[in-house]
Amino acid sequence: MEEAYVNAKGHIYDIQGYAVHDGPGIRTTVYTKGCPLRCLWCHSPESQEFGFQLSWLDVKCIGAEACEDACIKACPEGALTRGGPVKRTGTEETVIRPEIDRAKCTGCLKCTEVCIPKALYVAGWETDVDTVYARLMKDAVFFEGEGGVTVSGGEAMSQFDFTLNLCRRLKDSGIHICLDTTGFAPTERFAGILPWIDLFLYDIKHMDSYRHEKLTGVPNTLILDNARYIASHGGALQVRFPVIPKLNDSPENIAATADFCAELGDAVKLVQLLPYHQAGRVKYPRLGWTYRLKNVAPPSDAFMEKALEVFKARGLPCQIH
Ligand code: SF4
Ligand code: SF4
Repeated sequence: MEEAYVNAKGHIYDIQGYAVHDGPGIRTTVYTKGCPLRCLWCHSPESQEFGFQLSWLDVKCIGAEACEDACIKACPEGALTRGGPVKRTGTEETVIRPEIDRAKCTGCLKCTEVCIPKALYVAGWETDVDTVYARLMKDAVFFEGEGGVTVSGGEAMSQFDFTLNLCRRLKDSGIHICLDTTGFAPTERFAGILPWIDLFLYDIKHMDSYRHEKLTGVPNTLILDNARYIASHGGALQVRFPVIPKLNDSPENIAATADFCAELGDAVKLVQLLPYHQAGRVKYPRLGWTYRLKNVAPPSDAFMEKALEVFKARGLPCQIH
């Protein structure tokens, strides 16, 4: 605890104040960029790549005619061209939109510099511990009581130096820290950061490793091992189980997830069942990506209540969130 922090650099893509879903109380959440997982339902696709990503927001684009092809002319790679006329979202106006050939795009970001309405913008920026700390402390008034800071992602443990040192810096100021993690990082990193984390927000997505890999791109063994490590070394866990119809909502998987949470014992302060939603779907076209679960509907309230009973039956503190 007494070790000095280092002003490590990191890549983040957002800081959001007044967050009430990222741990207890009112919190400010820092979102780090880059994640080793590729969950099919990811609601923050802009978080996934470790590098900066060119994004395009259709509602802000006034059209290539109106801005005299500013972005198209600025692109040294010929990756931007005029597309066909389309109706501007939310208006009756017809505009010519730029089309991005992402195979040609080198990510130089010159187009973002000339786009006055900021329809073309960058997801993510480089920063450092001191800069983020200064920003977070502007919200310090909200951190009294249960609140504090949540470090999220992406996967914050992938930028370990930045995350560890930011948490050290915050803890030196007596701030409550949650780490929102996929659990997919070397166990030594969890051992290293454990003293500075008050509560791990920890996702369990599927108990079958083969299915887990199909849904997220990685097996679950390291994730489960790290949860056991945290639980057996004095850490506190708030387990989060996203319930995705037909993908991880079988009775067997719900029971296995509840069994695993029970195995972790008193370290589990709360289990949250998160009903699947499509809130992140609109972000995919901004990145030129396709949302693959568009035909999956959210689970019913009755289904979620039934699933919750499975956790209650094992004596676990739990809720639908
Ligand atoms: S992306 Fe920006 S610069 Fe390009 S046409 Fe749209 S508003 Fe104009
Ligand atoms: S980031 Fe650079 S290469 Fe890519 S579209 Fe914009 S100007 Fe062209």
